[in-house]
Amino acid sequence: MNNSRRNFLQKLTASFIAVPLLSKQSTASFDDRVNDFFYDGPVLRVAIMGLGSYGTRVADAIQACTKVKLVGAISGTPAKLTAWQTKYNIPEKNCYNYENFDAIKNNPYIDAVYIITPNSLHKDQTIRVAQAGKHVICEKPMALNAKEGEQMVAACKKANVKLLIGYRMHFEPKTLEVIRMRNAGELGKIMFFQGLTGFRIGDPTQWRLNKQLAGGGSLMDIGIYAINGARYMVGEDPIWVTAQETKTDNVKFKEGVDETIQFQFGFASGAAASCLSTYAMNGLDKFYLNAEKGFAEMQPSTGYGPIKGRTNKGELTQEHKTHQTVQMDEMAAIILEGKQPVVAVDGEEGVKDMKIIDGIYAAVKSGKKVNLKL
Ligand code: NDP
Repeated sequence: MNNSRRNFLQKLTASFIAVPLLSKQSTASFDDRVNDFFYDGPVLRVAIMGLGSYGTRVADAIQACTKVKLVGAISGTPAKLTAWQTKYNIPEKNCYNYENFDAIKNNPYIDAVYIITPNSLHKDQTIRVAQAGKHVICEKPMALNAKEGEQMVAACKKANVKLLIGYRMHFEPKTLEVIRMRNAGELGKIMFFQGLTGFRIGDPTQWRLNKQLAGGGSLMDIGIYAINGARYMVGEDPIWVTAQETKTDNVKFKEGVDETIQFQFGFASGAAASCLSTYAMNGLDKFYLNAEKGFAEMQPSTGYGPIKGRTNKGELTQEHKTHQTVQMDEMAAIILEGKQPVVAVDGEEGVKDMKIIDGIYAAVKSGKKVNLKL
């Protein structure tokens, strides 16, 4: 056995003995751990803002990342900060609250902040993080409307930091295979897309049903997957939208909080889309793409996975990996290495969805077709 191979095996063994002690590695596969072991490139040091349900999911997923390390936390709940310091080995000096997080500017140990708070807070928090000179990853919907989104893009440009939106499906392997097939011409001309997204929402007191915090209802939260999906599945941006709202419960879904909206898109190529967004039906998560030479069908299509799907060529068999782990490693490569994703995840991509959301709400209100300029 040569020296370098012996050294490698010794290091590998030592690393695997250490594995159970390190929560970072515990959810990773054997291959991931070997890759991680060999990786000595740049690492994106991230702080999460908003330690709620999705923030925790992302924090757990980061533990299996190669290019990302969770190093900080920003929260309005001191007890959560204490718990995260222990659970994720986060130093106290990297913990902030919503009043003092501008001081992150003077913290050289944090490169980026991932904003995972209620929708209406995203704009101001993004602008403050940008002004502190840190890259921003912001959850969807990026803001309450396109105007806010544009302000966020401008602030990040001015501060010379990157702004990425948490579009985890843009890195999902089965989704990327359908996009590859379409780009390679294997499906022929795209004719029609159907996107159905929704779930039955519970607790009426949660922020998702509060217009001030959510900015709307199901469309902002879950309908955005069908909007964004229509664009990445058809491979084009819509040029018009029509939309209709149905409300069966005026108490739970107050003024400005949509329960169910159906919307239709037209595309310059002649393709059309028909979508549904709802807080009133369980487990609605289905994409269907019809094309001249084939089709793609995915159900579930945007949940945490495994995504299931088939095309005219057969079942989609790409391996499932935790979406947020792949997303974060890919976003680190975008920020640190200038990697170009197959489907954009930048602020401008987020603004396009906000323009469509503005258009859908305008179409619901007027009952008329609304032209879109993305
Ligand atoms: P949660 O309610 O579970 O968590 C939100 C957290 O934000 C809270 O725990 C709290 O954390 C913080 N917060 C700050 N101000 C407020 C406030 N006024 N009211 C309530 N919470 C506040 O929500 P989610 O984690 O489910 O959603 C957060 C964001 O993530 C949303 O924009 C949502 O659309 C997005 N999301 C994206 C998903 C995806 O797959 N990409 C999936 C789920 C959500 P603290 O106590 O630490 O301050």
